[in-house]
Amino acid sequence: MGAEMSYLIRHSISTKIGQRVRPPPSVGIVRPKTQEQGINMQQMALGNDATPTDWCEPAQPAWPPQASRAQGLEQLEAFISKAGRAYQTHRNTDLGSWRHGHVSLLSPYLRHRLINETEVLSQVLAEHSQSEAFKFIQEVFWRSYWKGWLEQRSLLWPEYQQQLPGILQRATQNRRQSDDYNAAVNAATHIPLFNEWCEELVGSGYLHNHARMWFASIWIFTLKLPWQLGADFFVRHLMDGDPASNTLGWRWVAGLHTAGKSYLATAKNIRTCAQARLQGRNDQELGLNKLATSTFNLPEHLSAKALQKTEIRWPAPESADAAGYRANHGRTALLLTEEDLTWMPSQQPQGIVALSASPRSVIASSSEVVSHFTDSAIDDGLRRFTDHYTAQGLPCAETALDDEALIHWLEEQRMDAMVCAYVPMGPTRLRLRALRGQLACKGISMRMQMRDYDRLVWPHASRGFFQLGKRIPEFLDIMRLSA
Ligand SMILES: Cc1cc2nc3c(=O)[nH]c(=O)nc-3n(C[C@H](O)[C@H](O)[C@H](O)COP(=O)(O)OP(=O)(O)OC[C@H]3O[C@@H](n4cnc5c(N)ncnc54)[C@H](O)[C@@H]3O)c2cc1C
Repeated sequence: MGAEMSYLIRHSISTKIGQRVRPPPSVGIVRPKTQEQGINMQQMALGNDATPTDWCEPAQPAWPPQASRAQGLEQLEAFISKAGRAYQTHRNTDLGSWRHGHVSLLSPYLRHRLINETEVLSQVLAEHSQSEAFKFIQEVFWRSYWKGWLEQRSLLWPEYQQQLPGILQRATQNRRQSDDYNAAVNAATHIPLFNEWCEELVGSGYLHNHARMWFASIWIFTLKLPWQLGADFFVRHLMDGDPASNTLGWRWVAGLHTAGKSYLATAKNIRTCAQARLQGRNDQELGLNKLATSTFNLPEHLSAKALQKTEIRWPAPESADAAGYRANHGRTALLLTEEDLTWMPSQQPQGIVALSASPRSVIASSSEVVSHFTDSAIDDGLRRFTDHYTAQGLPCAETALDDEALIHWLEEQRMDAMVCAYVPMGPTRLRLRALRGQLACKGISMRMQMRDYDRLVWPHASRGFFQLGKRIPEFLDIMRLSA
């Protein structure tokens, strides 16, 4: 891919281990040492409320971000003051590369749970009222909505991945589509503004939410390319690339999530919300005169079964498992995965090991920017847990291990069981599914423990966001975060 760039992720600072959050007033957040409702996605994401003050540019944190918990906490701390009315007013403005100071840029940290939703919400609500920070809070719950929704369609991700090679092959066999696809992923289309977003995505590993929506809409309705290939391109280049938020975000733009509701990128909306990056260029210069003026219905390639809600037996709370922990499970290793790099079991494990990063796509590898961030995030997690547990003489693997090395390590350390934070649907889950069988043959069992936040929120993501969104005050109440 022509415009790909790589960055050196600076070595992350090891901070104290990620602690589970206790209710306020002692919120239990490890602070960094340095200081420094009727809801639908249309309302959430569209910005018609941009004002001239949008062009004042608050500072964006240093980029590329360090993949460490310490940096995530520092970034959260620095953003808190902007999470109230300022976020509500300016969140839809795309100021351009390296200038995204209106939004939190916390998504790469949340993606790997270097910081988690509960601590983000509790920090924000320590400084703002629920109504002041409502928009920001709602966005955090959008993440949980997509996670819970995909979790309840356990066949969707595997089927989508299974279909990808065929979709790519068909696209490359069609001369026009093949040219358009290559142009789209190499920032060489006849729409210069689209190319700029593509370069930003590939170079920085990030795109503003509104730019993601415009990009996806142009990909689908102007370039008429398969949404599946666009979602795959995104997930391999976004530092926060997430099977749920990304796949379902693309399906939402395509009109496949909410029947009859697709998203059209219009020159008018882009002019309003991306004014700062347009630098006075006219529609012809930007290619905005070439945008589709209407959407169309896309065929559904996923089977009815993949889209059907599956009944989930949500895991029991961790406390229910604590009593007979040792007796039931024997010598247990804690497994760290890229899906949650701060979760700690309530009972002390007998060893610490980390699983290497999983390939995000079956058709191509992740970008260097993504691989650097993910690998460094896992290293940061392993280092924090190792610092914490080696003092107690526990064996800790030195680096993240692939499947074979993991099995070997568990055998060598004479482990009977492995416990990890719940791994939601995606490549790591599919990998663990295969691993579970291999481990069982060796007499090693595997358990996943779900965070209370996920157990509380995800079951409500069975239908539209509205059903979940209206419960936000109730969730905050249960989490003891309401004033
Ligand atoms: C086509 C498309 C693809 C997307 N792919 C991803 C993805 O792979 N990973 C990802 O984390 N988000 C994805 N999003 C959602 C959203 O664009 C990003 O979460 C957001 O831009 C991240 O920037 P931020 O941290 O500054 O967000 P902020 O505006 O500061 O929001 C705070 C947090 O809330 C969550 N959030 C915000 N908006 C959304 C949303 N619409 N959906 C889900 N969660 C949200 C994120 O965790 C984010 O970090 C996608 C959206 C679209 C339209």
